[in-house]
Amino acid sequence: MSLSDLDLPRETRGLLLDLGVAEARFAGGTLKVRSPVDGSEIGRVAEDDAAGTAATIAAAHEAFLAWRLVPAPQRGELVRLFGEELRAGKAALGRLVSLEVGKIVSEGLGEVQEMIDICDFAVGLSRQLYGLTIATERAEHRMMETWHPLGVVGIISAFNFPVAVWSWNAALALVCGNAVVWKPSEKTPLTALATTALFEKALARFAAGGGTAPAGLAGLILGGRDLGEVLVDHPKVPLVSATGSTTMGRAVGPRLAGRFARAILELGGNNAAIVAPSADLDLTLRGVAFSAMGTAGQRCTSLRRLFVHDSVYDALVPRLQKAYGSVTIGSPLEAGTLIGPLIDGAAFERMQRALDAARSQGGTVTGGERALEADAPDAFYVRPALVEMPAQCGPVEEETFAPILYVMRYSDFDEALALHNAVPQGLSSSIFTNDIREAEAFLSDRGSDCGIANVNIGPSGAEIGGAFGGEKETGGGRESGSDAWKAYMRRATNTINYGRSLPLAQGVKFDV
Ligand code: NAD
Repeated sequence: MSLSDLDLPRETRGLLLDLGVAEARFAGGTLKVRSPVDGSEIGRVAEDDAAGTAATIAAAHEAFLAWRLVPAPQRGELVRLFGEELRAGKAALGRLVSLEVGKIVSEGLGEVQEMIDICDFAVGLSRQLYGLTIATERAEHRMMETWHPLGVVGIISAFNFPVAVWSWNAALALVCGNAVVWKPSEKTPLTALATTALFEKALARFAAGGGTAPAGLAGLILGGRDLGEVLVDHPKVPLVSATGSTTMGRAVGPRLAGRFARAILELGGNNAAIVAPSADLDLTLRGVAFSAMGTAGQRCTSLRRLFVHDSVYDALVPRLQKAYGSVTIGSPLEAGTLIGPLIDGAAFERMQRALDAARSQGGTVTGGERALEADAPDAFYVRPALVEMPAQCGPVEEETFAPILYVMRYSDFDEALALHNAVPQGLSSSIFTNDIREAEAFLSDRGSDCGIANVNIGPSGAEIGGAFGGEKETGGGRESGSDAWKAYMRRATNTINYGRSLPLAQGVKFDV
């Protein structure tokens, strides 16, 4: 089916109703939602205001006071039921992600799978919120740490992972005994409504099974950054997990610090890979192509900088150029498409400005032009751009949220490593090599300075289980795996005296 034959408003309405969203939530409101697939309007959502947002936060705080008393494994049961609802709704929600964000079908479904995976992870965690028992110097005493629920967790999310990011945070926050309030991107309210509808189904089943889940446990506020600011400034929100641009993090971080609230900041990346002389070039080609062109370069972990050793440059780069020239661009809803659209015209303009800046700094650009304009004049498809740069400068040092890969030569490994780390962002990274010394050095104390460092796979496509996040201007937050749950709880150190005397620590004497 050609792009001009699509009837996306009708399809979107059907999916939303199937997923349990009432029509009044997505029709007749003031927030217009456009599908990047063809630019058509697929919803009009009612926006919240500051007073409504404050009321949602107050309700979530009340819910927290009750939810923290529910034993953690029972809290896990609610998340398990949500995982079941996601399994049942995977096809519809995945399709809705593709419609609202323009991801290809397998990536839309993959995003929902990631939600299911974090639910499984969180269910296991609900029986493992362990504290330590610590050796004490005092006789007949015991010292230990205990972990307690924190309060209302605010979640601000970006357009490009419209539902997975909420789940990474919410699944952990809920088993940890917190309530959550979500401010999704103003570009993706429909998938947020659908996710909330699935969560409400899980709540109903939880209640039917005898569970007690207070009203207001998972609040949703729809609208622009002003509502995010209400969440950030609210004294009843002790933690905000904010995913988005570094510009957003620069605004949010100091406001949270100003009231001593906690922050999990998941911000922009400018991810690189090094291709060493011993690299398996077939594998490298696939790894680079997926990481740089997948999701039309709109992943925070997208590959944006490639350092290729002189000895393999001429063998790899022409093959990459060929792949860039032949990759299938088109409707993300069609099987076989690999590159869907950019989110909107502003993203296209930013891409063109970055390419102009690269040209003016001596870069040679292949691709980057608009595609399918006749078929879909209101959508923004592009051919991914591969830019050979003489040096790392200008736009190479910034994140442009579009499919641009800057390629540079190197001759010395340490020099490549230094260039790799010489940008302000620090999210994800990788090296393609079969030399164990290089691989280990890349992962070592003197290696990649990113939160994610890979060998022989690209920087994108993280999975649940590992802690996700980055350093420097990426914000320093970690979520989803490993011990990230600790950020959603408060830790108390407890000392218990089961003797009849009162020895003081450090041998201090204080006899009265
Ligand atoms: P964005 O910064 O424009 O918006 C993100 C969210 O923040 C939206 O919900 C927006 O309404 C809100 N917001 C913006 N300014 C705010 C403020 N001052 N106070 C409170 N809320 C505010 O980002 P985007 O265009 O939606 O997403 C793309 C960006 O997100 C890229 O930079 C990408 O790298 C980043 N991202 C990072 C990660 C990660 O895990 N590190 C994941 C996905 C996306």
